[in-house]
Amino acid sequence: MARRLRQARVPGTARNGAPTPPGVPLPPARGAVTSEAVLPAEVLRRIAYLLESQGETSYKAQAFRRAAATVETMAPAKLEELYHRKELASLPGVGPTTAAVVSQCLAGSVPQYLRDLEERTVPALDDPTRQLLGQLQGDLHSHSDWSDGGSPVGEMARAAVDIGHHYLALTDHSPRLTVAHGLSTEALRRQLELVSLVNQELAPFRLLSGIEVDILEDGSLDQTPDLLGELDVVVASVHSKLRMGPAEMTRRMVRAVSHPHVDVLGHCTGRLIVGRGRPPSTFDHEAVFAACASNGTAVEINSRPERRDPPEALLRAAASAGCHFTIDSDAHAPGQLAWLHLGCSQAVQAGIDAPSVLNTWPLAKLLAWGHRNG
Ligand SMILES: [Zn+2]
Ligand SMILES: [Zn+2]
Repeated sequence: MARRLRQARVPGTARNGAPTPPGVPLPPARGAVTSEAVLPAEVLRRIAYLLESQGETSYKAQAFRRAAATVETMAPAKLEELYHRKELASLPGVGPTTAAVVSQCLAGSVPQYLRDLEERTVPALDDPTRQLLGQLQGDLHSHSDWSDGGSPVGEMARAAVDIGHHYLALTDHSPRLTVAHGLSTEALRRQLELVSLVNQELAPFRLLSGIEVDILEDGSLDQTPDLLGELDVVVASVHSKLRMGPAEMTRRMVRAVSHPHVDVLGHCTGRLIVGRGRPPSTFDHEAVFAACASNGTAVEINSRPERRDPPEALLRAAASAGCHFTIDSDAHAPGQLAWLHLGCSQAVQAGIDAPSVLNTWPLAKLLAWGHRNG
């Protein structure tokens, strides 16, 4: 499946012979339009991905995915027939915009809608940030529609394959985060079966099993130790009572990052830096980062534009404490997997080098580290 997706890349978005390092968003569509088949479903999915990567709502992106789902199940002859009769918009899930995209694909050209998006999407990165991004092998924090994400597990995994990731951790929320539809123990066990099916389909790409487990008020974790021990990646995050006093918050976080099954401390301050925003929670960062370093728990650099967490001063403190890091998208939609460059830029500014970032590591090394505690 992975091979099929790679071969079916839209002309103009191909890697043009030069290997793109894993994790680097695809280059913009430039160059001549060719008469090779321009596959409508691939183009529609790529548009959805790019819309999300630019911060558009999943609602808008999903219109393109719905159209993709319709056209990819149709017989090519039937699609051609509707195209010639100018009746593509009569298909379920296909509207005027998506019909125009499909028409241009069937005419053998790369749709203008896609070209415009590709042109707008590539971020201007400084060299160190681009280099670090190029060294990322995957992503250790993402959500599907099993919790509060917008897309199915398989869709998230395929998007990760498409951007060259070797692995992606699926880390849906834990039970008590009811606003985000946290998964019960039973639901997470069912999800593990799905993860293994996806892995059979997409190998050698690896969808890592995981969870973003809530750090409860007393520092305990919102899932059973047995199940946490079965997962490839456990991200532990504070999502409630962010305003508790610093002494209490420090005890809470130190207890959580010292848990033998916790691999990553997620978005450690909880700050939000867009809209009304939210100040960072306060804790003794030296104590928390010392506990991270001594327990081998990585400090996450969360790439979401509204988080960019932790801030630079704390990142420097974590590096001084000898912590490892992850640079994660915390994607809630496929296109948000493209946000890793924001975390890379934070890391570069704080002087963090690639070897201390776990997701620059190849899969085998990462798994050995993740399973260090059995
Ligand atoms: Zn979170
Ligand atoms: Zn998350």
